[in-house]
Amino acid sequence: MELTNLINELTDKTKTNIENFEIETVDSIKHVYDNAYLEKPTWLGASDIICVFIDMNDSTLISNLKKRATVAKIYMAFTQNLVETLKKFNPSYLDIKGDGVFALFEGENAHNYAIAAAVTFKTFNEKFIKQYCLDSFQVAIDCKIAIDKEQILVKRIGLRDTDKEKKSNEVWAGNLINNTSKLSNVSKEIKDKENNGSSCIVVSEKFYNLLCNDENTKEFTITSCGCPGGKKVKLWKEYNEFDKDVFLNSDNYQKVFYLFSNWCDSHCEEYCNSILQTQIEE
Ligand SMILES: [Zn+2]
Repeated sequence: MELTNLINELTDKTKTNIENFEIETVDSIKHVYDNAYLEKPTWLGASDIICVFIDMNDSTLISNLKKRATVAKIYMAFTQNLVETLKKFNPSYLDIKGDGVFALFEGENAHNYAIAAAVTFKTFNEKFIKQYCLDSFQVAIDCKIAIDKEQILVKRIGLRDTDKEKKSNEVWAGNLINNTSKLSNVSKEIKDKENNGSSCIVVSEKFYNLLCNDENTKEFTITSCGCPGGKKVKLWKEYNEFDKDVFLNSDNYQKVFYLFSNWCDSHCEEYCNSILQTQIEE
């Protein structure tokens, strides 16, 4: 191998690419899959993308379990179900990051799909996965859940995929995914502080405002169904005692909003479909 040639060739290519760097504003991040963009130094820019990030609350505890097979089974019960649940809500992009999963939603109704997806998985985890793992492996699986909204740049980097091999990966530039994953740590912080047996969904102020400003759905996302007892209450609380400095662009993270509620048994279908303003496909 001629190392000097290789290095010279890559150096020249890098310089050319950076000189020709450009951002193309796109209406959908799904364009990242177009091969046309793979070799060009063009990044795709999209505004108002919503990220849902869900992670196991204590994954180091799980990876420290002695039996490899037990760890593997927990991933099947948690991560596989997490991916499948989020997929039902039509994200534009979904990927596994460490032990967690992030899903990106775009379009006019993205905030409603994002919150419905998060509450659905949280409910599923607490009604089934958690108890199942406790009974089968003596481990309680809680999760950290966060949602944020931000602009994003994306590019597929690598070589053209073949039928047999994936040779490229999407690279995200910007704060969205990083900040959402940091918000998920605030979710753990609030859960521990309130000593609540349930998992907590934490959202940025930007995202919360989207819910509050949607006249069609705020009745279902901001206030409760009234169970039990028929009294409708505000579901979200505000929190501002977390470390703001860890966030990129921390001015936008002076406070967050959080929710402990799950879908209730009587109203889950009605509420989920009212939030999505459509029926989810079976
Ligand atoms: Zn209810």
